[in-house]
Amino acid sequence: MTTDNPMGSPGVHAELAKRRKAVLPDWLNTLYAEPIDIDHGAGRHVWDAEGNRYLDFFGGILTTMTAHALPEVTAAVSEQAGKILHSSTLYLNRPMIELAERIAEVSGIDDPRVFLTSSGTEANDTALLLATGYRASNQVLALRNSYHGRSFSSMAVTGNSSWSPTSLSPVQAQYVHGSRRPGAPLADLSDADFVDACVRDLEDVLDQLHGNVACLIAEPIQGVGGFATPPDGLFARFKEVLDRHGILWISDEVQTGWGRTGENFWGWQAHADNGKPDIVTFAKGIGNGLPIGGVVASAEVMNSVAANSISTFGGSPATAAGALANLDYLLEHDLRANARHTGAILRAELDSALGGIPGVADVRGKGLMIGVELRWPDGRPAPEMAAEVMEETRRRGVLVGKGGLSGNVLRIAPLLSVTESEAREGARVLLDALREVGEARS
Ligand code: PLP
Repeated sequence: MTTDNPMGSPGVHAELAKRRKAVLPDWLNTLYAEPIDIDHGAGRHVWDAEGNRYLDFFGGILTTMTAHALPEVTAAVSEQAGKILHSSTLYLNRPMIELAERIAEVSGIDDPRVFLTSSGTEANDTALLLATGYRASNQVLALRNSYHGRSFSSMAVTGNSSWSPTSLSPVQAQYVHGSRRPGAPLADLSDADFVDACVRDLEDVLDQLHGNVACLIAEPIQGVGGFATPPDGLFARFKEVLDRHGILWISDEVQTGWGRTGENFWGWQAHADNGKPDIVTFAKGIGNGLPIGGVVASAEVMNSVAANSISTFGGSPATAAGALANLDYLLEHDLRANARHTGAILRAELDSALGGIPGVADVRGKGLMIGVELRWPDGRPAPEMAAEVMEETRRRGVLVGKGGLSGNVLRIAPLLSVTESEAREGARVLLDALREVGEARS
């Protein structure tokens, strides 16, 4: 950790942490025992209010996509804010139309229509509305270990316990973990047999339902679920089954979109033999921190609902202008190619921990979405080790995330503009921290 900000003021962490406790809900997740308050950022770095600098390998949960304080985005937002901040989709506004056009061009969806929202949760809610409306059915399939948002309906299709006591559970979740974690029921199968078993499970669930199912919602690589990565070909085989029944596939690209996986543009394209979704939802990276999400579907699906609807903040001019500048920057600088290149460097470094550092049970993912799963020698998840490694990397000036059902997977997701030397520096810090904690605990 480098203290190179003369503006930093010691003691503010403690003061803000105290005020936070008095005013925010107890269940708001903070990654560290002592929360960090981020004050500002530039490029791939952020500074806390005490002046400490960190290399950002989490991007505020894969949300800052291109760079912190990117001048192009700042200029676009402030120029638009100086003209008008809000007009509503009841009126036309140029940034919204231009952004929708650009997203439609890269969407991979035939005859695309785009609806903009202000978050990923809202995008998924909209996709569920579209699919259930189009299919005239309320039956929705989702996968175990998934995360789709924190509204009542997106939680209902989330196979993760964080809010389950209060959510509906209409989910017919089958076993498709994706992570081939040691000890999992299907862990010893070959990739091909694992895919077969998942497909049989999907067919079995459909047999048991005896009815009209609207859609399957799934993340191509599960984000909150610990970057659980299914074998190639799984979604293509799912899609064949779904197509036989006319069931739509919603690909939740909130974490995997915009080149994050280094392979093509969307997570669904990152698997060889991929199937093509009917609906794509997105958020996070497109806004580089501005609150924006959205849905792309064919005109047939998008226009099938008899809605007379708007989203107050969806496509709001300043947000759309910023997102457009961000997307243009990503495309002009081919950050997807950079994600593939730097992701491979990072991955090669982290792969060396497998078998070499006690507790490292799996390294997985694609591009700049790399999960490091931690387990004790008897196979039990090691969330305590993950928490310690995070504290240690923080102390050494690198921010990473964690996830997985047990909180035992480190999530490494640098900004897509990360340089080779930053990738190597982050990998070295991670490996040192893993080694120190793993060896002390073994
Ligand atoms: N879908 C996925 C895959 C996510 O990871 C998230 C958030 O982490 C969401 C949906 C919800 O997005 P938001 O927090 O913008 O509502």
